[in-house]
Amino acid sequence: MTVAARLADAAGRLAAQLGLSQGEARLEARILASHVLMVETVWLLAHDTDTLGTAQAAALEAIVCRRLTGEPVAYILGAREFYGRWFRVGPATLIPRPETEHLIDAALARAPVNARVLDIGAGSGCIAISLKLERPDLRLTSVDISPAALAVARDNGARLCAEVEWLESDLFDTLAGRTFGLIVANPPYVAEADPHLTLGDCRFEPYAALASGPDGLDAIRAIIRQAPAYLLAGGWLLLEHGWDQGTAVARLLAEAGFGDLFMDRDLAGQARVSGGRYGYEPEKNQEPVGLEGL
Ligand code: GLN
Repeated sequence: MTVAARLADAAGRLAAQLGLSQGEARLEARILASHVLMVETVWLLAHDTDTLGTAQAAALEAIVCRRLTGEPVAYILGAREFYGRWFRVGPATLIPRPETEHLIDAALARAPVNARVLDIGAGSGCIAISLKLERPDLRLTSVDISPAALAVARDNGARLCAEVEWLESDLFDTLAGRTFGLIVANPPYVAEADPHLTLGDCRFEPYAALASGPDGLDAIRAIIRQAPAYLLAGGWLLLEHGWDQGTAVARLLAEAGFGDLFMDRDLAGQARVSGGRYGYEPEKNQEPVGLEGL
């Protein structure tokens, strides 16, 4: 069998088993093949009439079978690209998603120069590391309740040479007395009974990183309630949330005393990131937060 025939066969089975479109299935087949054969995907096109050796063909079949069980491509590869960089990922961490890149954009647009920035829920570390590498002036602290996730985040930080303080903490629990100019979080926000949790990649990801109470807002409520104690005057809190949670998050922010509320939409037009600033009083002509401690 030629390379092209094997890829077509794999794509057909992936599409049928996983409900992927033909285009998605062909792309996944190419990604898996290039990974297992250790070649660029263009090699597969240039060598489409080659015949694979027995060992190569067996390795390709094995990796396709893993994917046919539903295991996410990111876990099979052990890596996922986010904001232009590759992050190691595994079953201890949520797989970085393109929609979270909006959270990075929102934070970069608002983070004052030299601000201390807190990332709640490190996961793979992709948020804290991306912010630090895009804006080396920022001083990043990232917390996660899961030591296994923190190990992955630390490893990514070291590999990508991003200086981030990693702390094991249930939300703000280990941060008493510390203040930040900006707090970001991609917390769990899926409602417990959401059928989405039983589909696709979610089945393999840490449940605690996805689901958060009956309406999905438990973690977001806790973060909004606690954040003011950890924000400098005028500091920002930015949260990723579900497409249907924008109004609820805006209400929670307003009730907690946040102002300058905003909501950003993703490329599909869905509400995705909301935030506001705490204790900003323009009439006092305050210095932008973050310049302290220079
Ligand atoms: N966007 C993810 C999903 O719907 C959820 C991520 C999260 O809960 N933080 O699969």
